Amino acid sequence: MGNCNICNEAITNPVCSECLQLEIAQWLSDFQAGEPEEVKAVTQLFEHFSTGVNCIVCKKELNVCAHCYCEEAKNFVPKNHSEQFKRTFDFELNNSR
Ligand SMILES: [Zn+2]
Ligand SMILES: [Zn+2]
Repeated sequence: MGNCNICNEAITNPVCSECLQLEIAQWLSDFQAGEPEEVKAVTQLFEHFSTGVNCIVCKKELNVCAHCYCEEAKNFVPKNHSEQFKRTFDFELNNSR
């Protein structure tokens, strides 16, 4: 199993940036919270990283772990929705300890 270049944690829930971006964009438009288009900037931010781990959804290589991605994507979520966002997407934190 590969590790994330940013947090150095083993990647236990391999979902790539692109798949997460789709999910988050969907979530944002469901809650009408923030701009789904702006989340694409997060994917670009991590583009040059690699982990050697492939996505369970689309089989492409992950750039970062889902946790680091969500931490960054959270900045695009309005404050009044950030708790809800954390509960929906921060699965790494909830599961690991
Ligand atoms: Zn990470
Ligand atoms: Zn994917």
